[in-house]
Amino acid sequence: MKVAKFGGSSLADARQLKKVKDIILEDDARKYIVVSAPGKGVNNNHKVTDLLAMCHELSAHELNFNEVYKIIENVFKNIVDDLVLDIDIDKILAEVKDEITNGASYDFVISRGEFISAQVLAAYLGFEFVDARDLIVFTKGVVDLPKSEDKIKEILTQHENAVVPGFYGENEEGKVNTFSRGGSDVTGSIIASALDAEMYENFTDVSGFWLLTQKSSRTPLLLDNYLQGVEELSYMGAKVLHEEAIFPLRTKIFL
Ligand code: ASP
Repeated sequence: MKVAKFGGSSLADARQLKKVKDIILEDDARKYIVVSAPGKGVNNNHKVTDLLAMCHELSAHELNFNEVYKIIENVFKNIVDDLVLDIDIDKILAEVKDEITNGASYDFVISRGEFISAQVLAAYLGFEFVDARDLIVFTKGVVDLPKSEDKIKEILTQHENAVVPGFYGENEEGKVNTFSRGGSDVTGSIIASALDAEMYENFTDVSGFWLLTQKSSRTPLLLDNYLQGVEELSYMGAKVLHEEAIFPLRTKIFL
């Protein structure tokens, strides 16, 4: 069994989702899928998570956030329309909008991109949707790995396949708690570790880690057997993988 995570630009529009579906279905072992919120796409210059943060900010100042929310609605509605999905996207979007209006927390609001994205992909794949709130446990603002692994083992194994939103979990008060930005990678690695996956695949639409930053002379860095190198690169600011995504898998055997 493999756990596969797809980043925001892979989920930005229907065309990208088609590619994601092809990748998932070409290997039966890809049973548990973790997703980010839609990122920038051909028809959209903004990441959904950034737009949600703006909505939260505007709403906190009692300013109208309709215009910004409209962009989010369009991203999801276009995907659902283009793929002709059987999902009540209007209802889901209206509920999130109400929650923002009613003063939902920052973490809750910025987690909704993953929440909706996972439901959309689940409908498209015919997989089940399992909420990350039921799987990822935060204690005092930090992810609790042992507790999360227990929950994942208990709950995800009851599902033959599932799409799980990345980036967030639930804290001891029953409230949504997010990782730092880009944290869907961490969700994926915790799930892969908990389920002893044969492999954790972190799909992204860049062609690799680059050794040098200058475009003219950059050389792709081979990643095989360079786990520590990957972690160091992430710490140094390479945007490909979240720096905390290696930790849950450190004790596992690699490549
Ligand atoms: N959507 C979140 C972000 O933009 C988390 C993620 O993509 O991993 O940071």
